[in-house]
Formats: sequence, structure tokens, C-alpha cells
Amino acid sequence: MILEMEHMPVYNTLFLDRDGVINIQRPKDYVKTIDEFIFQPHAIEAIALLNKYFKYIIIITNQRGVGRGIMKQDDLEQIHQYMLNTLRESDAIIDKIYYCTALESDHPDRKPQTGMALAAKRDFPEINFANSWFAGDSLSDIQFANAVGIPAVLIGNKYKQEQLASVNFELHCPDLFTFATYIKDQSNR
Ligand SMILES: [Mg+2]
Repeated sequence: MILEMEHMPVYNTLFLDRDGVINIQRPKDYVKTIDEFIFQPHAIEAIALLNKYFKYIIIITNQRGVGRGIMKQDDLEQIHQYMLNTLRESDAIIDKIYYCTALESDHPDRKPQTGMALAAKRDFPEINFANSWFAGDSLSDIQFANAVGIPAVLIGNKYKQEQLASVNFELHCPDLFTFATYIKDQSNR
């Protein structure tokens, strides 16, 4: 009985940013091809571990490179298929990817605007934002999470302390695997 309980999801949904969290961000560039999609160290095992503690794992990503015409939507879809296939080989499962290719910064679907969270809630009515987490490496991720009411973890160290004064996050981790370890330790108490 206790063993079975260990594998019951504790949390509702893990919302994941993509670039800088799952894969290495290309400085001042977009991931335009499969060759340019490089997983962050231990990101795959992190997602496989997080699958045990979250009912859903959903990616929420801005991909303006398509809107700018630097890459095609089909390129983005191929990159995502590669990412999902590679993850699945290690039993790391992503339930859905939401992406926004819009050029305009104030587009309702572009983070920090909340359109993609509302779309996810429409598609998965069981989503409970308050019992979820958002993991992202940008201020716009944390602003998005704050606007929707999702507890946030800031990943990485792109920012100086004073730049973070206007946002709220519960946790700051160097990478997704550190966050996965935190969730595991919390849940096994
Ligand atoms: Mg990012």
C-alpha cells in the first residue's frame, strides 16, 4: 500500500518553459533545426522523475522565430517531434506543447500574457493552477505564472538580484534536475 502511494501524483500540472530549461538556449538566436536542439544536462531524467509527481507535464513556449520568418512552423513541429521522441525513449512524457509564434509582444498568447494557460485549462479541465508549478528561466515566465496563480520556480541565473524584485517565485534552482530532486524530496517526506 505504501509503495503504491509513492507513485500517486502529488501535484496537478508541471508547466515547463522550453528554451533554457529543457534545451540549451542559443544566444540571440532560435533553435531552428533538430541539430540545434541540445538537451540541458540531466533534463531528460529530470522530466522522467517529475512524471512520477505530476499528473500532467505541459510545455508553454514562445517561438517568435516563426513569426519573424527565420524558421517555418513545420521546422518547429519537427523539432518538437524529435524532442518528444527522444524524451519518450527515456520514459519522459510530455502531455502537450503549447507554443506562440506571434511577433507582437502583446499578443494574448505570448508569455507573459496568459492565453496559453487558458488554452491548456480548456483542453485539460482537471488542471488546477494552485496545485501546479511553472518552471522557467525568464522574467516573462515568472510574470506569466504570477498572473495565472501558478507557483513558480526560476531556473538558471540569467538575472541579477535587483532585476527579480518585481516577480514572485517560490524557488530558484540552477537547473531542472535540481528542481526535480526538490519535488522528490518534498513528496517522499
Ligand atoms: Mg526560456
